[in-house]
Amino acid sequence: MPQQHIHCSVNNCHYWGSGNICQANEILVTSDKVANEKGESFDAPRNAATMATTPVSTCMETCCKTFTDKNTGNYNADGVYRR
Ligand code: SF4
Repeated sequence: MPQQHIHCSVNNCHYWGSGNICQANEILVTSDKVANEKGESFDAPRNAATMATTPVSTCMETCCKTFTDKNTGNYNADGVYRR
């Protein structure tokens, strides 16, 4: 798997790291529509490779489905782990 930095400014996410670097081992970026329809367990480990594609028109219609509020303590629902 290619190594890459995911830059993210959402610092109340459990996976956020200093320098605005995402520390999640994998993330799922999808359309806002799908994110709103699916629950917390729908995420990169279980669904990214097989889900239907989700075209959008602008960046404002996309989001990170992996976001988890660091204050909730609910980090295991999606199967993602912090590197
Ligand atoms: S999981 Fe998503 S929202 Fe959270 S730090 Fe990574 S890119 Fe940002």
